[in-house]
Amino acid sequence: MTDQTDEGTEAEADEAFGSCCTELKEAMSGAEFEPLIVVGEDGVLYMSVGLIDIEGEEPGMVDHPVFFCPFCGTELQTREEVRQDGDAVN
Ligand SMILES: [Zn+2]
Repeated sequence: MTDQTDEGTEAEADEAFGSCCTELKEAMSGAEFEPLIVVGEDGVLYMSVGLIDIEGEEPGMVDHPVFFCPFCGTELQTREEVRQDGDAVN
C-alpha cells in the first residue's frame, strides 16, 4: 500500500476565482449588490471598468479581462487563457 497525499499540486489551474482572498470572493458573490467582477461564459474573469453610452440605447457595461486580482495581486489567469476570440489581441 502506498500512502499518497494530494499535496504538492498548488500550481494547478485554479478555476475557482475568488480563492485568493475574501475581498475578491465577496466582490464576485454580490449578495447585496450587482457584481462588477464576473466570470463570463467562456470561463474568463471580467471586470466592468465603466459605462458606455450608446445613442438610443441603455448604457452598457464595458468589460475587460482581469489578469491579476485587484485586491491582493494574485495572478488569476494568463493572456493565453483569455485570448479566445479576436478581441483586442495583437
Ligand atoms: Zn485576491
